[in-house]
Amino acid sequence: MTDQIDDAQEMDAWYRSRSLDARVAIPMPYTGQCYNCEEPLEHDNFCDAYCRDDYQLRKKQQSQRV
Ligand SMILES: [Zn+2]
Repeated sequence: MTDQIDDAQEMDAWYRSRSLDARVAIPMPYTGQCYNCEEPLEHDNFCDAYCRDDYQLRKKQQSQRV
């Protein structure tokens, strides 16, 4: 019984952390190029983690400036 309660609390925390992520993440359609440096890509929206982080950081700074 206690195991089930622990699981439920863990799931609740997991869902809450997921929904926080979803609020930060912006839905981004595939455009064929990197959102950060416009490098042509066959899939994904960024070349690598650096481009993704750089883009998201600039997005965040833009939204904070408003
Ligand atoms: Zn890039």
